[in-house]
Amino acid sequence: MDKKMKFETLAIHAGQKPDPTTGAIMTPVYLTSTYVQESPGKHKGYDYSRTNNPTRAALEANLAALEGGRFGIAFASGCGASTTVVHMLKAGDHVICSDDVYGGTFRIFERVMKHFALEVNFVNLTVPGNLEKHLKSNTKMVWLETPSNPMLKIIDIEDVASKIKGKGITMVVDNTFMSPFFQNPLKLGADIVLHSTTKYLNGHSDVVGGAIVTNDATINEKLRFLQNTMGTQQATFDAFLVLRSTKTLAVRMRAHQENAMQIAQYLEKHPKVEKVFYPGLKSHPQHAIAKKQMTGFGGMITFVIKGGLPAARGFLENVRIFSLAESLGGVESLVEHPAIMTHASVPAEQRKVLGIDDGLIRLSVGIENIEDLLADLENAFNNA
Ligand code: PLP
Repeated sequence: MDKKMKFETLAIHAGQKPDPTTGAIMTPVYLTSTYVQESPGKHKGYDYSRTNNPTRAALEANLAALEGGRFGIAFASGCGASTTVVHMLKAGDHVICSDDVYGGTFRIFERVMKHFALEVNFVNLTVPGNLEKHLKSNTKMVWLETPSNPMLKIIDIEDVASKIKGKGITMVVDNTFMSPFFQNPLKLGADIVLHSTTKYLNGHSDVVGGAIVTNDATINEKLRFLQNTMGTQQATFDAFLVLRSTKTLAVRMRAHQENAMQIAQYLEKHPKVEKVFYPGLKSHPQHAIAKKQMTGFGGMITFVIKGGLPAARGFLENVRIFSLAESLGGVESLVEHPAIMTHASVPAEQRKVLGIDDGLIRLSVGIENIEDLLADLENAFNNA
C-alpha cells in the first residue's frame, strides 16, 4: 500500500488485499492455531498463531499505516500492550510516567512493577522543568498519556522528545484518546505509540484490545519476542473486528468531535457546571499545545458539577441516552464518575492532587444526534 495515500484511504485498504483463494474482499478470520509446513521449518510465514496470524497481521499493518509507523503489534488489551512494553525494562531502571494516566496504567507500575524493583515517578509533565528535575542516570523510559485521563491535560510531545533525545530513553505515548486520526506521536518524536483499541479504533464497544506502533526495528523485535513469550497477543476474531472498524475511523472521529465541541460549549455556559475541561475550548490551559500537536480535539469531555457527590449522583442517575458505564470511544455516548469508577485504583490522596474530585464527571461523546444528546444532558441537570 502506498504510504502517501491519505488517511481515509489507508484506513480502508492498508494491510489488506482480496483473499487469494476466493477473492473475498474482507480479510478472512483465520481461526487456526497451527499451519501445515511443507518441510521442517519451511512454511508460508506462519507456524503458530501465538506468534503470528494472517488476520492479526493485516490489522497490524493497517494500524502501522494509520500511525505513520513501520511496525504494528496487536495485543489482547490496552493493558496487555502496556504490560508487554514495561517488560522491556529491567530491575533498577527508572521510569518517569505522567501523573494523570489511566488508572490501570498507574496500577501496572505501582502495584506490579514496583515488586520487580522498577523505580517509577509520577510527574506532572505539563509543568515546565518537571521532566528535567526527575531525569536520572538510570531513567530508561518516559511514559505519557496526552490528552490525559480523566483531566484532559495536554503534554507537549515534541518538547518532551527533544529533552530526552540521545539519552537512551524510550518514549512511550498512549494515544488512545486521540486515535491516529487526530494525533500521530511518532511524527512528534515518540519511540512507541500505544493504544487501547477497545476505544476509538474499534469504536463499537464489542472488543477489548490493544496495540503498539513503532518505527524502530529493535523495539519491534523486542516487543514481538516479549509478546510471543508472554502470550499477550490479540485473539483472531477480535483482530478481525478491529480491522473492520478502522475503516470508519475517520468519519467516526469527525462526528465525535463535532458533537463534543457543541456539548463542551453548552456545558461551559451551564449554571450548574463549575468547570469544563475540553482541549478544544479556548479556556483549556493547554489549548495552544493541543492546536499545535493535534488535528482535532476528540470526543472526551470532563466537567465538574456544582454540589459535589450528591449532585453528580443525581445527574448520573438521570441520563437516558448517555449510558452510565466505564470505557469510552464507542459510537454510543457514555458517562462515568472517575473517582468511583475508572480511577478508583488511584489512591484518594493522589486523586485529590490530580483534581479528580467527587463532582467530576467524564463524558465520552458518541455520534448520536446532537439535539438528542443536549436534551438528555439538560434533563439530567434538571433532575439532579
Ligand atoms: N490507556 C487508556 C488511555 C485507557 O483509557 C485504557 C482503558 O480505559 C487503557 C489504556 C487500557 O486499555 P484496556 O482496557 O483495553 O486494557
